[in-house]
Amino acid sequence: MQKKSQKPQRARDPYEVARRRMVKEQLMAGGIRDPRVLEAMAKIPRHLFVSPGMEVQSYLDRPLPIGDGQTISQPMMVALMSELLEIQPTHRLLEIGTGSGYQTAVLAELCKHVFTIERLKDLSLQARRKLYSCGYSNVTFRIGDGTLGWPQEAPFDGIIATAGAPLVPEALKDQLVIGGRLVIPVGSEETQDLLVLTRTRQGFQQERRTSCRFVKMIGAQGWR
Ligand code: SAH
Repeated sequence: MQKKSQKPQRARDPYEVARRRMVKEQLMAGGIRDPRVLEAMAKIPRHLFVSPGMEVQSYLDRPLPIGDGQTISQPMMVALMSELLEIQPTHRLLEIGTGSGYQTAVLAELCKHVFTIERLKDLSLQARRKLYSCGYSNVTFRIGDGTLGWPQEAPFDGIIATAGAPLVPEALKDQLVIGGRLVIPVGSEETQDLLVLTRTRQGFQQERRTSCRFVKMIGAQGWR
């Protein structure tokens, strides 16, 4: 009798090694400590979120084009912003700039529910398809101007903006719980400071973390 193979043949993810290297050589070496962030990024198939043909570059230490003149942030920036949010499993988060949906997937792994806004319809629909096909059911998508936040779902435990604004939009500050954090790049069109604002009973504490370069946040409380 022919002996059957004991183990089922599982389709191997060809990018598993590249992803593990990204976590070790970029994120851990870069100072990311939050084990939940590292675990999420070791799991999520980043190569599915870049433009077709760019998969092999998707785990390199750089941002990449995702269409419509927009970019997916480099892995280290996604990790840093996720860590700075201090996400708890019970959190409801707001994201401005869905883009490829990759950062959205990281948030969806770490919190209870993500509300994400993208101004470009094609990108939002594409991200929606990708996240559903990856099995995420704790994300709600909206096409529109994220500088105004999402008043119907506010307040949020944390807010992340992945496009650069000239000033911190007041609407976003208003939609944070006490103790909640807003992580946002603020500055000129060429270069921004990554800011972390924490809402306190008295107002807001502000901390500058690093320099960065994001695409423009375009909207009523962003760039015109
Ligand atoms: N986190 C995304 C980054 C995408 S780039 C990723 O990892 O892929 C930033 C995105 O912000 C772009 O898709 C851009 O269209 C979007 N954006 C710019 N201004 C916006 C606004 N006011 N509201 C919502 N999305 C906005």
